[in-house]
Amino acid sequence: VLGRMMDEPLLVSGILEFAARHFGTSEIVSRRVEGDLHRYTWRDCRRRTCRLAYALTSLGVTMGQRVATLAWNGYRHLEAYYGVSGIGAVLHTINPRLHPDQIAWIVNHAEDQYLLFDLTFLPIVEAIAPLCPGVKGWVLLADADRLPAETRIPNLSSYEALLAAQPDAQLDAQLDAQLDDYVWPLFDERSAASLCYTSGTTGNPKGALYSHRSTVLHAYGSAMPNGLNVAARDVVLPVVPMFHVNAWGLPYSVPLSGAKLVFPGPALDGKSLFELFEAEGVTFSAGVPTVWLGLVNYMKEHALRFSTFRRTVIGGAACPPALMDALIDEFDVEVVHAWGMTEMSPLGTTCGLTSRHTGLSPESQRKVLRKQGHAIYGVDMRIVDDAGSELPWDGTTFGHLQVKGPWVIESYFREEHSALQDGWFPTGDVATIDADGYMQITDRSKDVIKSGGEWIGTIDLENIAMSHPAVLQAACIGMPHPKWDERPLLVVVPRPGMSVTREELLDFYEGKVARWWLPDDVVFTDSLPVGGTGKVRKTELRTRFATHRMA
Ligand code: ADP
Repeated sequence: VLGRMMDEPLLVSGILEFAARHFGTSEIVSRRVEGDLHRYTWRDCRRRTCRLAYALTSLGVTMGQRVATLAWNGYRHLEAYYGVSGIGAVLHTINPRLHPDQIAWIVNHAEDQYLLFDLTFLPIVEAIAPLCPGVKGWVLLADADRLPAETRIPNLSSYEALLAAQPDAQLDAQLDAQLDDYVWPLFDERSAASLCYTSGTTGNPKGALYSHRSTVLHAYGSAMPNGLNVAARDVVLPVVPMFHVNAWGLPYSVPLSGAKLVFPGPALDGKSLFELFEAEGVTFSAGVPTVWLGLVNYMKEHALRFSTFRRTVIGGAACPPALMDALIDEFDVEVVHAWGMTEMSPLGTTCGLTSRHTGLSPESQRKVLRKQGHAIYGVDMRIVDDAGSELPWDGTTFGHLQVKGPWVIESYFREEHSALQDGWFPTGDVATIDADGYMQITDRSKDVIKSGGEWIGTIDLENIAMSHPAVLQAACIGMPHPKWDERPLLVVVPRPGMSVTREELLDFYEGKVARWWLPDDVVFTDSLPVGGTGKVRKTELRTRFATHRMA
């Protein structure tokens, strides 16, 4: 027998409708590319999003077609999130930090029909428009007076002019016969809602095509207290970009929680972020470690303190313990270490303590918090050996991390074959899982150092280096070795105005790791190469130091 409950499809448009009806006065504040602060409410957002839906329909965009964005975190980008997916088209968010050739490749591969972009990215669009003949129109996310006087971009229009030409849909149309309301189409919840390409550090980028169902379930799952814990009383500032895995789902989980949303636009430096946190009373944020390093350094330099900020999620790369310690001990900010990936919508695990940990010493608690954490409901995970056999959850055995669940990828966009092994998605990460179910990433499989048939995890070695007071950043790479296959080389960026020697650093490892894990050599550099998603590009480091002779 079937249950007798309503069979409402889980659609992205339902989240916007909920927020506009039930938290209609909650604010959305955006720092715009134009420089000013823009503020409106979920109700206003819905009104403009309906206009966008009319506009896209009048442009001929239909179910399943892709509409791309090259945009910062802001209210217009948010409208595209709901307007595009709401009519059944597919929102394709593109990372503007990629090389223009790669962006053009992605646009063509996705067969984007229209591309919406922020003023900042006009030069990118100028460069790629001739390479993307399939795009029917380019829409500048600004007023018409911002359109360039002369341009090579065909069919360029202004977003605001486009919206202004549409009828005004009203949420309370039922109450007022004069007003016409927009009604979102209903369709199969398994239909595609959005598309995001992985950064493709090896080979061409691959597309993860999310469904309405996976997006809504991920929004529910990630908003739970064990996850991101978003509530109506929060003021949420997603630093993680909306062009990188849907800002970790926050544009969906914040409205279903009714919280106030603050968008930083293009200003992601420590000073701008700190000022916006304070001005808008931000309580909760999320971003990659490099962003927090910038903010913490700025605040230390200027002896600043947060007045409302209480909690942050850090993920996308391992959170260096020194950064976690500074946020908790010096700034009184709770840190939730999280792990996920584009192929997982992205959230997989978050780290928090359980009641069993309350009696532990602060240092023992901190050790737990440094892990990547527990699976959130909706994600299952396991570690396996090279042959695919499951490995024990003992906290020391490491293996290939595999995941499954309703918001995990099954196959890549426009690829026939399944991406799964044995029904599980291989993450490409190497991890341990302890008896309590806490997972810890030791490395990416392509970065792990294979020495004498054993693995050396580079994250551990980097974290130790970064806990040295004179070290700003560190990365560890495997160098070819005639006897051991590979040996670790530590690349270090010293803190400005401080110095440290190779010998001091190597001594610093004494007693902290097994002797055979000790880096063979240390090199110093001014900066580490960072990729489009703010992570250190180890492939580039390996090339840069390919001819280095280990001491
Ligand atoms: P890309 O693969 O395109 O760089 P993703 O955001 O999909 O971008 O990256 C996912 C990968 O980032 C994971 O497979 C993992 O290697 C790494 N990662 C994410 N979060 C963490 C974390 N908290 N600790 C360590 N590594 C992480």
